[in-house]
Amino acid sequence: MDKFDVIVIGGGPAGYHAAIRAAQLGLKTACIDAYAGKDGKAALGGTCLNVGCIPSKALLDSSRQFWNLLHGFEAHGISAKDAKIDVVAMVARKEKIVKQFTGGVNLLFKGNKITSFFGTGKLLKDRQVEITAPDGGKQTIAATNVIIATGSAPIELPFAKFDNKLIVDNAGALDFDAVPKRLGVIGAGVIGLELGSVWRRLGAEVTILEALPDFLGTADRDAARIAAREFAKQGLNIHLGAKLSKAEVKGNTVELTYTDAKGEQKLVVDKLLVAVGRRAYTAGLLGEGTGVKLDERGRVAVDEHCWTGVEGVWAVGDCVRGAMLAHKGFEEGVAVAELIAGKAGHVNYDTIPWVIYTEPEIAWAGKTEEELKAAGIPYKTGTFPFAAVGRAVAMNETAGQVKVIAHAETDRILGVHMVGPCVSELIAEAVVAMEFHGSAEDLARIVHAHPTLSEAVHEAALSVDKRAIHKAN
Ligand code: FAD
Ligand code: NAD
Repeated sequence: MDKFDVIVIGGGPAGYHAAIRAAQLGLKTACIDAYAGKDGKAALGGTCLNVGCIPSKALLDSSRQFWNLLHGFEAHGISAKDAKIDVVAMVARKEKIVKQFTGGVNLLFKGNKITSFFGTGKLLKDRQVEITAPDGGKQTIAATNVIIATGSAPIELPFAKFDNKLIVDNAGALDFDAVPKRLGVIGAGVIGLELGSVWRRLGAEVTILEALPDFLGTADRDAARIAAREFAKQGLNIHLGAKLSKAEVKGNTVELTYTDAKGEQKLVVDKLLVAVGRRAYTAGLLGEGTGVKLDERGRVAVDEHCWTGVEGVWAVGDCVRGAMLAHKGFEEGVAVAELIAGKAGHVNYDTIPWVIYTEPEIAWAGKTEEELKAAGIPYKTGTFPFAAVGRAVAMNETAGQVKVIAHAETDRILGVHMVGPCVSELIAEAVVAMEFHGSAEDLARIVHAHPTLSEAVHEAALSVDKRAIHKAN
């Protein structure tokens, strides 16, 4: 039986980071991954590279260019008549990017001398792992440490089961070969908004049904309100408090039955994307007597160091508690590899940034006002609108604002909430400041280049102390 220092089960963002860091630290490492690309061959990178972060951003970018061509360039004096979108070419570009990145992880594995197994791993007793290859062949390997990184899968609604033709999950909605005339989306969460935006920008009539009465409940209330207003202008039709009870395929359409404040409603769509959250993927993962436990939501139970409580068995990424974000998985993978190598691996869960890649983008790190109120922590806020930022006006992208929340007494930054152009990039400054326990005063004293979008961050920090220069305080 082959023996390793570290076996990683799952080659998504959490798993491949763990494997590369472990190999860098001189540990003999293997990674087992089951994901098969469209050609049936191994495709490392998990959900993120194959059907998540990267392909969705590729389509968001293509569709943003098309939307701007139709609706955004006119203000710049640029007109383009009869602009067309070739959906097949757009999706092929996305596929090329996916291949480039999944192939890239393969090369990184080779460069780091990581042994790669294509198949499904099952944890057995004593840190042995049984691998089942796609052809059914089995072998068992063992290690001093096993890192579980099996990720997550979309939640399926019993009354709207995926058929991957008309009722699709995220993977299906990344692969339409034409713009659906009417797209229904269940769930106004991150996937619903991002992929709903993609197809809306390309011309689909998009209706999003959200069960909860609040829009983007975990985001800053002002950011959610501003975003909702902008999405409505773009024609994204978002119904809150809409509870789906039936989705029936009728010919080439799906008939939805849902209830809202007005009673029972019907909606007929050509494609339905169900994006109501994801669940940890642990099916068939644990053999007899491993001692590894699942929590009440089927996630691998771990402590704050991603340790399962069983000697040498760890778990990272979407299959454990916490945010289901690629970068959270990256850092957990690295931290665990470092802990295994006797180093001080650590993840600061308080500063993990969230980004929603819509137009405008939404990004935040740290606490919301609601969370601080609930915890009884006194705070003060400073906001600054992009409409007063020279660069944003020059770009004709003025919707949105930056809000800095600081402790009322110590001035320590507790949260930063942004909605507006390129805030996916701007949030990094807030994360650095928070990571260094910075104050609003610290951000306010830093020189920001002019004219840049980052001036909104600077002015919002100044505004905490009512001394923003370009607005009335
Ligand atoms: P996964 O990426 O799910 O990888 C797990 C891997 O393990 C898979 O390859 C799976 O096949 C394999 N596996 C499972 N079980 C076994 C087994 N028993 N044996 C062997 N292999 C196994 N996050 C962001 O931070 N930013 C974004 O912009 C973003 N966009 C997203 C867009 C979409 C449409 C979706 C669906 C998700 C998005 N996410 C985004 C979330 C992100 O993709 C996940 O948080 C991330 O992929 C989780 O990484 P992971 O390694 O834990 O799991
Ligand atoms: P989500 O949790 O973001 O949103 C799901 C939404 O569906 C929620 O608003 C929920 O209230 C609603 N919902 C649940 N059941 C419903 C029902 N029966 N009818 C109507 N609405 C219902 O989940 P998601 O959008 O599926 O995305 C899953 C996860 O993937 C995200 O939480 C995030 O962690 C990750 N992701 C991240 C990014 C990013 O970072 N930009 C992008 C995509 C996905």
